[in-house]
Amino acid sequence: MAADDSGRGSPPRLINRRLLACPRCGWVHYAMTWAETQESDRQLAYLTRRYELSPEEQALYAAAYRQCLRCESPATSFRAAQERDLDRAAGHLVTPVLVQPEETRH
Ligand SMILES: [Zn+2]
Repeated sequence: MAADDSGRGSPPRLINRRLLACPRCGWVHYAMTWAETQESDRQLAYLTRRYELSPEEQALYAAAYRQCLRCESPATSFRAAQERDLDRAAGHLVTPVLVQPEETRH
């Protein structure tokens, strides 16, 4: 498998991204790519060393990517974003979220 580092150094692109909406508050998130997941893990490892994070603090950091930024609904409850969700999302920054493909059946 060839390494894919074409996106390195550029901001996250939302084109062709899987967008998910929180069923409770309508906040729109985008599914993190594998590369972003790796980056997030690296960042956590760095923070853990730098600030000597406790296991609880590490879990909190990881959990932030598995829930709604706004109302803390679990990412497992998210549904695919509809056109109207995206209209609403225009007003806020779309938030990265970590989901497994099988968690977003609809
Ligand atoms: Zn929400």
